[in-house]
Amino acid sequence: MRFANLDGRMQLVRGGTIDVARASGDKLPSDPQACLDGWDDLVAWAEGASDADATVQSGPLLAPVPRPRQVVGIALNYQNHVGESNFSAPEDPSAFTKFPSCIVGPGSDIPIESGTVDWEVELVAVMGRRAHHIPEGRGWDYVAGLTVGQDISDRAVQLRPPAPQFSLGKSFPAFGPIGPELVTVDEFDDADDLAIECSVNGRQVQLARTSELIFSVPELVSRLSAIITLYPGDLIFTGTPAGVGHARTPPEYLRPGDQLASTIEGIGTLHNNCVAP
Ligand code: ZN
Repeated sequence: MRFANLDGRMQLVRGGTIDVARASGDKLPSDPQACLDGWDDLVAWAEGASDADATVQSGPLLAPVPRPRQVVGIALNYQNHVGESNFSAPEDPSAFTKFPSCIVGPGSDIPIESGTVDWEVELVAVMGRRAHHIPEGRGWDYVAGLTVGQDISDRAVQLRPPAPQFSLGKSFPAFGPIGPELVTVDEFDDADDLAIECSVNGRQVQLARTSELIFSVPELVSRLSAIITLYPGDLIFTGTPAGVGHARTPPEYLRPGDQLASTIEGIGTLHNNCVAP
């Protein structure tokens, strides 16, 4: 199943779009975040939804998860990015938060407030159930689906001494675009092995497969939920592969006018333009 947020209303995407609240006779909510809180009810309804309810609707495509309670980012989760960053591979997931106010959708502009803003395409796991102390073998059962994300990062703010605090530098307005759709785990032949790519102005800058993740999605659900409680709709930005601008010689950063395209196999492409603040 594929779900999208069309102008604030949850849609089941199947050929056309089926408005979840209207087609369910308002048994299900229109608000995408509320739909995620009742994920099992949504999936049960969607299995029986009729294509006859598909309608042609217009409006902006917004973040499939507009107001997550928690957004966890994972640093250094691809070996080739660990190498370009001059760190050694972590023994435990290296986690930070992106403050939820930075979450925007496909097509949203990203204001570039400094000369040190960088790209990071990432697979984003969306939680479908409350999770605490979940074994790795059951990790996928707690994930509603996957979407594409950009963990946009102001490197100067992220790496400020003496003890770098990643969260603020990764939480400027619109530094967390996600979308274009939320795709359920069963839609993928192998949800642990998806091509992931980023391009800037049509030039490919990152290309990898999610099978290269040091900590896989189910392992992250397990390792994170061993400490925090995860809630439906929470996001896990699973980390970025090699090819970020900061690690290049000389370093490259995003500028107003740049066009960012972030693609994951089986999900789609997230388009965002960089603009002057
Ligand atoms: Zn990242």
